Amino acid sequence: MKEYGLYINGKWVPSESGQTFETVSPIDGSVLATFPKGTAADVHRAIDAAEAAFPKWKHTPAPKRGEILLRAAQIMRQRKQELGELVTSEMGKVIAEGKGDVQEAIDFLEYISGEGRRMLGETTPSELPNKFCMTVRQPIGVVGCITPWNFPMAIPIWKIGAALISGNTIVFKPSSLTPLCVARLIEILEEAGLPAGVINFVTGGGGTVGMEIVKNPRVKSISFTGGVPTGREIYAAAAQHLKPVELELGGKNPQIVMEDANFDLAVEGVLFGAFGTAGQRCTATSRLIIHAPVYDEVLGRLVERTRSLKLGNPLDPKIDVGPVADEGQKNSILEYIEIGKQEAHLLLGGDLCTGGDYDKGHYIEPTIFETEHGTRISKEEIFGPVLSVIKAKDFEDAVRIANDVEFGLSSSIYTKDVNLAFRAVDMLETGITYINAPTIGAEVHLPFGGTKNTGNGGREAGTTAIDEFTEVKTVFVDYSNRLQKAQIEEEK
Ligand code: NDP
Repeated sequence: MKEYGLYINGKWVPSESGQTFETVSPIDGSVLATFPKGTAADVHRAIDAAEAAFPKWKHTPAPKRGEILLRAAQIMRQRKQELGELVTSEMGKVIAEGKGDVQEAIDFLEYISGEGRRMLGETTPSELPNKFCMTVRQPIGVVGCITPWNFPMAIPIWKIGAALISGNTIVFKPSSLTPLCVARLIEILEEAGLPAGVINFVTGGGGTVGMEIVKNPRVKSISFTGGVPTGREIYAAAAQHLKPVELELGGKNPQIVMEDANFDLAVEGVLFGAFGTAGQRCTATSRLIIHAPVYDEVLGRLVERTRSLKLGNPLDPKIDVGPVADEGQKNSILEYIEIGKQEAHLLLGGDLCTGGDYDKGHYIEPTIFETEHGTRISKEEIFGPVLSVIKAKDFEDAVRIANDVEFGLSSSIYTKDVNLAFRAVDMLETGITYINAPTIGAEVHLPFGGTKNTGNGGREAGTTAIDEFTEVKTVFVDYSNRLQKAQIEEEK
């Protein structure tokens, strides 16, 4: 078992606290590595290093910065199997999804390295003669990135790749549940040639390390993915410094099935959307809204298919659903299942798996409730393998139910009616809508994010990826050789 340090100014160093914590596999409780419990003083050292590295990194041409990211992608591609196994071991998603997490990181690095040759600004005419107007993008400075555990490689790389190509230097805090995946990414970036100080990695508690990154005025912006309560706390703290914050938060994502849908396709979709990654995706399908005339038929098929899912060790390729991430996650999901048992009708699952190897980890059965819209399980984010099934009278009712939650990340509708499909695109209040596909499955070259309490309006990935990591500078070049005054008419 390896003992890691903090990564500051290109070196692995101990924390001044002298304390450590373990990262543990949710599969069987085995300890994978230890990491330092960082302190505010460690964050200050990381900021010192990031500030010192910034001028040189900012002036490294963006295409050269891109070459380093592309090399990192190539290293990851060569080591995809091993990295996928690491994701699965540390976080618990099944191996196909562990490798998918790695692939998403590779895809993003490849995509964003090309941004080094775009980084587009605008040119536009001036209202005055002999004057040239344009915008250029500039890095912000030292940026802070704070990430969750559920995509332990893809989410960090979305932030790291976009921040670095834009010319920023980084102080990075991973989830305390998955620091090893990010430590491996740091090693790969170093191997790819990233200069010392450009990325600095501080492990430790959210309230100490995370909050110091948020509050320290030398960190110029924050990119955060995680839960709504943490997002609120971070937003409020950063507001004291008028610091820009990008928040990617929770979801309560609906899949609608209309009477004309391909039912088999819809059932396969919800199965993957609801129980993939044991329901621990921000885009997971947590509500299935079925059109009344086909309710019994779709639900019957879903229950039958769900029964066939195999729950167990996620490193085994034959397994469909792995453990949930840790004890805290397990308890919170089981609490919601108890609430569901009080307020709704339990159709399937609802128990912790026990006996044999199950006792070493945290395995919860794929669970389906039939419920009215308005119950807690139908409105609150559970972040586990728990699906609420709700009946809708018609299309309008389905959309009303879909929209009547605090979140707005992803939505999906299964229908063959092109008019309904486009009306759904128009009416569903989410940042992402899928037609005849599940609520999960982001592609890196498209913007990702949501409405309402899912965030504060920004979008990661796609053409919007660098927006949160660049300042737009407007430039006027006057080559008239005289004082020209915009908006002011000559009176004399
Ligand atoms: P948390 O909000 O608990 O934690 C996220 C990160 O914030 C962790 O690194 C955590 O550190 C840190 N943190 C905790 N408290 C503070 C604080 N006071 N100040 C600064 N940082 C802090 O979320 P989870 O890790 O449990 O992730 C699950 C949540 O993330 C779900 O709600 C899910 O919907 C959301 N999510 C959203 C996505 C999106 O793109 N919209 C994608 C994936 C997940 P530590 O681990 O040390 O506590």
